[in-house]
Amino acid sequence: MPSGTNILLKSPIDDLGELTLIERIRVMTMDKVNPVFTTSLGIEDQVLTAALADAAPQVRIVTLQTGRLFPETLALIEETEKRYGIEIERFTPDPEKLAAYIEQYGANGFYESVDARHACCGVRKLEPLGRALEGADLWITGLRRRQSNARAEVPFIEYDENRNLEKANPLADWSIEDVRSFVSGNRVPTNPLHERGYPSIGCEPCTRAIKPGEDERAGRWWWENDEKRECGLHVDDSQPAASAIQ
Ligand code: SF4
Repeated sequence: MPSGTNILLKSPIDDLGELTLIERIRVMTMDKVNPVFTTSLGIEDQVLTAALADAAPQVRIVTLQTGRLFPETLALIEETEKRYGIEIERFTPDPEKLAAYIEQYGANGFYESVDARHACCGVRKLEPLGRALEGADLWITGLRRRQSNARAEVPFIEYDENRNLEKANPLADWSIEDVRSFVSGNRVPTNPLHERGYPSIGCEPCTRAIKPGEDERAGRWWWENDEKRECGLHVDDSQPAASAIQ
């Protein structure tokens, strides 16, 4: 088996797709010692935070505070903590690595080249993510197949060989309508930017509103002409684009 691949795992029951979200989460976290959920505070992740607070409060909830987030996102972190009585652990960039990045590329050097952008995501996101997932045996994410072509094959459960841990995507088969319905039915707090044309929200300088008919993630790194634009958090290293993305 090639190294660096994500491997599909058979779920503990025959069809996770038949279960409710709460049931899925209970099955996915069953027998896990250190499950971690990484939230970007996007609408999918807010659904999962609400469900985890209810069904699996033992799961650690962490976020990557890159230093370039929207003020609305920072405010939502605190609002969410209060709403669900939880702590969202903040992971920030290593100061020395960040200083070295800025020295080499400039604070906004990510606009200048794909390499500079990958280097910024590496320092502000990937390295802190590695720390956030240290010792974890399950990584829960809010990935959905219909978010973009690059995510069309997202399974419910896979094995992330790079990080040597199981990865669970409980919303893999949900549509955006499913997500919105859960949010309105459970009065889940969401980022006000979603109402202003931002379905996917990342760092402020790298996210714009999308136009009607565009892919949900078209507003991320919009200046790059690449269908597989990702920050590297959820990319398979065995794919040719991955090394460039990271
Ligand atoms: S999204 Fe933009 S600002 Fe955020 S880490 Fe990546 S390149 Fe840097």
